[in-house]
Amino acid sequence: MRVAFGGAEFPCRAVAFDKDGTLFDSHHYWGVVERLRARALADLAGEAIVPRWRKSIGVGWHGDRLVIDVAGPYAVGSVLEETILTATVLYQEGYGSWEHCREVAQGVFGRAADHLRPEEAFLPLDGARETLRALQAAGLPVGVVTSDNRRPAEQALGLLAPVQVDFLVAADDVQRAKPFPDLMLRAAEVTGVAPEAFVVVGDSMMDLLLAKSVGAKAVAIVHRHLYSPEHVAGLEAAADAVVDSLRQIRVVD
Ligand SMILES: [Mg+2]
Repeated sequence: MRVAFGGAEFPCRAVAFDKDGTLFDSHHYWGVVERLRARALADLAGEAIVPRWRKSIGVGWHGDRLVIDVAGPYAVGSVLEETILTATVLYQEGYGSWEHCREVAQGVFGRAADHLRPEEAFLPLDGARETLRALQAAGLPVGVVTSDNRRPAEQALGLLAPVQVDFLVAADDVQRAKPFPDLMLRAAEVTGVAPEAFVVVGDSMMDLLLAKSVGAKAVAIVHRHLYSPEHVAGLEAAADAVVDSLRQIRVVD
């Protein structure tokens, strides 16, 4: 099977998509999740720690506009990494023992996850359902490899109904997050497709490195209005192909 990604065509036996920023509007999701976590952190540790915490994970609010370092921990780190960072900030600011700080950090992320309303948080990007359906109709296994945990990932994917992905590998399913190969090795295991026969589509450098770590093709989806020119140039240099929209992915034969 050959699939076109923008101007490039590759042989392809399965496609693994990143979730946030690739199938779903990550900026919207990040804003919703950041507010929930900041609220939980303020409740559990007090308002004063919140600005310091935001700085540590690479986010800031300019009025009601969320500004995110697209190469920072919040944008590309796993939930586990963010939890450790949060515990570290608490520890540095004198909130007590490491054990206590870790418990508070886990409480922040747990509470925020409990309050997440998927239908508010996840907006499918233009062409998400149609692209998945077209690839599946051609007989290709199609799924998601994400740095998010399984529970919110399943909630998000439920919103693509009636389309259902063939596989989901989440951060808490494997030992090591992107860009280590673990997510793709698991995807290969569950689909029975060799990892190098996959195409990986994602919006961050971590996704491209994940693809390369197993010898798969790396396709960048680039949201030019959200990214700095340097970030776009970095993605373009690292990717085997670049698309501006999921609608530029089509089965050739
Ligand atoms: Mg992403």
